[in-house]
Amino acid sequence: KTTRLLQKQREIDSAAVSYPENIPIAFEEAKGATIRDVDGNTYLDFFAGIGVLNVGHANPYVMEAMHKQADKLVHTVDFPTEARLDLIEKLDAIAPGNLAGNSKVVFGGPTGSDAIEASIKLAKYNTEGNGLVAFRNAYHGATSGAMSLTANKKFKAPYTPLLPDVVHAPYPYPFQQAKDPEEAVEDALAEVRATVLDPYGGLANPAGIFVEPIQGEGGIVVPPQGFLSGLRDIADEAKIPLVVDEIQAGLGRTGEWWGSDHFNVTPDVITTAKALGGIGLPLSATIYHEDLDTWGSGDHAGTYRGHVPAMEAGLRSIEYIESHDLLAYARDLGEYIRSRLREVGADNSFLADVRGRGLFIGAEFVDEDGDVRNAGDFVAGIQQRCYENGVLVWKAGQYGNVLRLLPPLVLTDAQAEVGMDIIVDAIEAESS
Ligand code: PMP
Repeated sequence: KTTRLLQKQREIDSAAVSYPENIPIAFEEAKGATIRDVDGNTYLDFFAGIGVLNVGHANPYVMEAMHKQADKLVHTVDFPTEARLDLIEKLDAIAPGNLAGNSKVVFGGPTGSDAIEASIKLAKYNTEGNGLVAFRNAYHGATSGAMSLTANKKFKAPYTPLLPDVVHAPYPYPFQQAKDPEEAVEDALAEVRATVLDPYGGLANPAGIFVEPIQGEGGIVVPPQGFLSGLRDIADEAKIPLVVDEIQAGLGRTGEWWGSDHFNVTPDVITTAKALGGIGLPLSATIYHEDLDTWGSGDHAGTYRGHVPAMEAGLRSIEYIESHDLLAYARDLGEYIRSRLREVGADNSFLADVRGRGLFIGAEFVDEDGDVRNAGDFVAGIQQRCYENGVLVWKAGQYGNVLRLLPPLVLTDAQAEVGMDIIVDAIEAESS
């Protein structure tokens, strides 16, 4: 059945569809941290729809609430519903640092890219500036504004000109830059400072700094302490918002509600999507300090900004994470998974760096010459071996050389052990 579906998709679907060819699979059903394919094979899910299914596939608590809501009411644009207002209050309560209790939320549409577009508009509206600082190796989405902030030229070269006045500063990546953490931070901050504060160079009219708290697509790059807080200081001095893109890192994935929480930084604006729709319903939000709520009615609009079942699912999934203490669980389980990776890396010259927080985990591989650039096929090989033995894993990084593990936060200890046995075996087999 899988072969038939993949064949039919190749015939009738867009040439733009994208999944790894080395893991030919067609899903039929999923529950918790497992997925069954159309031929009855079951897989442990260590990618969770790219970090979407934090509460697990078809989480029963969330599903029941979502079904009840869907039977009553689905679409309301901006008219009030209890689900919408309760979700706004919940997001305000869990927002990072001093944003909690002082935030506003705008629902701009279903995707992460929508939340990024809203945050670009919000930053420009409040500063009357147009210059945007983003970072090398960043990913922020596929719409024109979000693509402008995304670093990888492959994604945007055919569509230029995009937004003008976007500067990509270095993101501290001590492993690939072969720098001390402090030096990597200093170099990155020096460039941001020059870009927004130097009266004799850089952006004439900066509007905001856009940054992932931990880079996701870029390879689970955890910046050293001092980076986000340094950006906070620069943004304050320049009187521009610090916009932290929490679309992949947020909502519990890292073992805290937000990636920013690991660095004790309060952003002016955060973007969230992916896990916000709970069980995979499309929903995004831009959460910002109430002082930035200067725009007027209709200044940011869109048809799908009131998807009630998605809002209900988002609210219930946050409740589920709270009531099951999944933040602490994700921290512990993440430690276990990283320790298994470090163990195999100790005498494996291909596995060069293990990183992450909570269940936002990356293992970076190099080739026999220690080069990151040619290790993508190696990681694809690991991915294929995992698939053949019943575990789905993902890749990340500019060179595809980072093994990315993003299991649901409801992965059980037993599932984690079985999954890690298979992943470790795959790494060892690929290395021999
Ligand atoms: N920002 C980050 C950090 C992301 O990881 C992604 C998606 N991978 C996006 C933005 C874009 O989200 P979407 O694909 O839902 O538009």
